[in-house]
Amino acid sequence: MWWMRHDRMWNTRDLKDRYDVVIIGGGVHGLATAYYLAKRGVTNVAVLDKGYLGGGASGRNTAIIRSNYRTPEGVTFYDESVKLYEQLSIELGYNVFFSQQGHLSTAHTESAISGLQVRAEVNKLMGVDSRVIGPEEIKKLVPSIDISTRPRYPILAALYHPPGGIIRHDAVVWAYAREADRLGISIFPFTEAVSIGRSNGSVSSVQTSRGEIKTGTVVNATAGFCSTVAKLAGIQLPVITHPLQAFVTEPLTPFLDCVLVSATLHVYVSQTDRGELVIGSEIDPYSSYSTRSTLPFLESTASHTLELFPCLRHVRVLRQWAGICDMTPDYSPIMGEVPGIKGFILDVGWGTYGFKAGPVAGKRIAELIATGKTPKVIEPFSITRFWEDRLVGEKAAAAVSH
Ligand SMILES: Cc1cc2nc3c(=O)[nH]c(=O)nc-3n(C[C@H](O)[C@H](O)[C@H](O)COP(=O)(O)OP(=O)(O)OC[C@H]3O[C@@H](n4cnc5c(N)ncnc54)[C@H](O)[C@@H]3O)c2cc1C
Repeated sequence: MWWMRHDRMWNTRDLKDRYDVVIIGGGVHGLATAYYLAKRGVTNVAVLDKGYLGGGASGRNTAIIRSNYRTPEGVTFYDESVKLYEQLSIELGYNVFFSQQGHLSTAHTESAISGLQVRAEVNKLMGVDSRVIGPEEIKKLVPSIDISTRPRYPILAALYHPPGGIIRHDAVVWAYAREADRLGISIFPFTEAVSIGRSNGSVSSVQTSRGEIKTGTVVNATAGFCSTVAKLAGIQLPVITHPLQAFVTEPLTPFLDCVLVSATLHVYVSQTDRGELVIGSEIDPYSSYSTRSTLPFLESTASHTLELFPCLRHVRVLRQWAGICDMTPDYSPIMGEVPGIKGFILDVGWGTYGFKAGPVAGKRIAELIATGKTPKVIEPFSITRFWEDRLVGEKAAAAVSH
């Protein structure tokens, strides 16, 4: 039976002195890239992580999956990921608990409604199910929400995106790791990349905490740490790392069957299948690599939650945590080979929204490596956009919503 196929989720292997591809980062992006490479027959691949698999943002996020972005480039890209996620439990033989319960982004001002209308139209044009709905319909979807005129910012409308939802982030990471390992990929937790060698305009090696590896292809999939790893290859990225926090409450009887986001109130809420509420907000306003959580975040985010759901005032908080996010100026990722450094491939700039992109990014970066051609869907996200003046502005759809 498939669920009894392995004693271990992945194996411990000896580190060889040469691999065709070295992937730095054992989060959803690095592991998905490894899996899709293996599916294409490229298996002489090492995935390195300086900690445990999924110990970065992939194990700390609030697992919102959606494709209702603002730009045609973004919508097309994330929609491919949602479709891959829909098949993932079957493809990887592991239940990733993808719950497409719907995603609601509320508007509390006239200008916010216009913003959501633009998104709805772009979404529809790209074939993505999204529409603006009024307070009555919102109340039907979320009976416990306060749609009265009592709050400081009453709810006027919302963007409703039925295919959006939540997933089990750990299950996704473990499932990709297990299948990549089964197909012949070598995975090395607790193995840090400490320098990257270059010769004749190409990458040539990765020095690790366990020895040197010769290779012609290196993938930087290290999210919050991506600028430190890019620096090892001698390049500076247009990325600033910020902490992002979240918290969960004690379990409650199920009452919220969709993901609810309010950009105005800087808060989003979902309920897990265990009954806990998962609550988050925007990035912390300072740059840091710290994963300590703070009381001011908890106080402000909890009070904004109560503006949407006054009924939660007696609910207790179970735990709070932080991860780090690699923010780009336009809130879009940076993907593809770095011009002038053959074989150095970026899959970074995932900010607060990269978990949902794991499948499509992994699949398309693997295609780039295997074929040497940049797939069309990731072309807009090349690093060259920053000096060619063609940013892919997603802040309106990605800041609080993730
Ligand atoms: C609180 C929070 C909520 C979020 N909510 C959402 C959400 O709802 N939806 C969504 O889509 N996204 C969300 N995100 C963002 C998302 O989690 C990330 O964009 C995504 O997980 C990035 O995945 P990754 O595989 O690129 O990086 P990571 O999972 O961060 O993995 C990178 C790995 O690289 C390793 N590494 C770093 N340096 C080195 C080195 N020198 N050598 C070896 N290994 C190294 C790290 O140990 C780490 O494990 C959220 C993030 C946070 C923190």
